[in-house]
Amino acid sequence: MNRADCLERDRDDPLRAVRDRFRIPENLIYLDGNSLGPMPAAAPELLARAVEGEWGEGLIGSWNKAGWIDLPARLGAKVARLIGAAPDQVIVADSTSVDLFKLLAGALSLRPRRRTILTEGRNFPTDLYIAEGLARLVPGVVVRTVEDPLAALDADTAILTLTHVDYRSGRRHDMAAATEAAHRAGALVLWDLSHSTGAMDLELDRLDVDLAVGCGYKFLNGGPGAPAYVYVARRHHAAIAQPIAGWMGHARPFDFDPQYRPAPGIARQLSGTPPILSMRGLEAGLATFDGVDPAALRAKSEALVALFLALTERRLAGHGFEPVTPRDPNARGSQASFRHREAYAVMQALIARKVVGDFRPPDIVRFGLPPLYLRFVDVWDAVERWGEVMAGREWDRPEFKIKQPVT
Ligand SMILES: *Cc1c(COP(=O)(O)O)cnc(C)c1O
Repeated sequence: MNRADCLERDRDDPLRAVRDRFRIPENLIYLDGNSLGPMPAAAPELLARAVEGEWGEGLIGSWNKAGWIDLPARLGAKVARLIGAAPDQVIVADSTSVDLFKLLAGALSLRPRRRTILTEGRNFPTDLYIAEGLARLVPGVVVRTVEDPLAALDADTAILTLTHVDYRSGRRHDMAAATEAAHRAGALVLWDLSHSTGAMDLELDRLDVDLAVGCGYKFLNGGPGAPAYVYVARRHHAAIAQPIAGWMGHARPFDFDPQYRPAPGIARQLSGTPPILSMRGLEAGLATFDGVDPAALRAKSEALVALFLALTERRLAGHGFEPVTPRDPNARGSQASFRHREAYAVMQALIARKVVGDFRPPDIVRFGLPPLYLRFVDVWDAVERWGEVMAGREWDRPEFKIKQPVT
């Protein structure tokens, strides 16, 4: 395998034209689209139109005329295609953290005699904090944080809540097996898809998943702070309670009814007024997936990660990097992570060489490999520059050891 082989794989890549849907700075190898997706090329115009035309000229009338009021459901339906769900089961609202709170509380309402929220210790911190915060509010509810959550399922488990692809290692749960195990124990399951959607095919409906949330600004390219999405299986729509029971989740918000009557379907998951400008950013992000088959994303993602791991094994041997991403393609997502004693400084030196990944404590360098727009030649060039950084000890400079607020 050499650079020319990578260029040839790019020429044969069925997704190769999709890269033009983005504005990626020249000479930058961006391996952080799993943290903040690159800007869709159409975003500036779409946002300018939303600001100048819809907000500036249309004012209040834009709720109807520009379809602002329908954006949460319309964008939800676009996410639904990417996660293998019927469109009426997904809606865009709030942040992943807030959506976790709503759905965990909703799960407790669906399993009122069970008191345990079950999760694993390595889950993303916000997922743990939100569960613990909810448990502090609801008498009797406990969060069990364990190593092996499937083995800990029991008759008191109301909800098993897991992140599908681990943000640090890239390890991927077997969604079918975990969902089935939860159901066998009489529990519900909630998947956090923040590191999955947009990088692989998912089958939420076919696997009988109950609940899911995910992030809009990572692989979905929705822009900084883009709203998140909520999935609730149709069979739970009528019974699930929504703790942030705001007027936008009312059956008829513009009746201004003093009595809360929840919307019958997925709209119940709305709370307050949607952030329209952020929604337009997410709309541009989701449009980058138009016509793209999630199975094709998965196929390319597997090839990118395999190439990255193979090249690093060769080029970085002897420099003290320990891969933490599973070798089994079925057990990983669309990223590669490595442990290293000087992980932070190494990543800073790489960023100075225009290879952008990130650092996760205590000692991990992490590279996102989004199949939608990343080229095989980018993987080659990134590993080459990384090899040079190590060979020249470029990381060993004082300025690369100063911690920034966001790593
Ligand atoms: C990025 C991420 C979040 C982010 O939550 P916000 O509320 O959007 O800040 C939550 N969960 C997981 C697993 C994530 O990777």
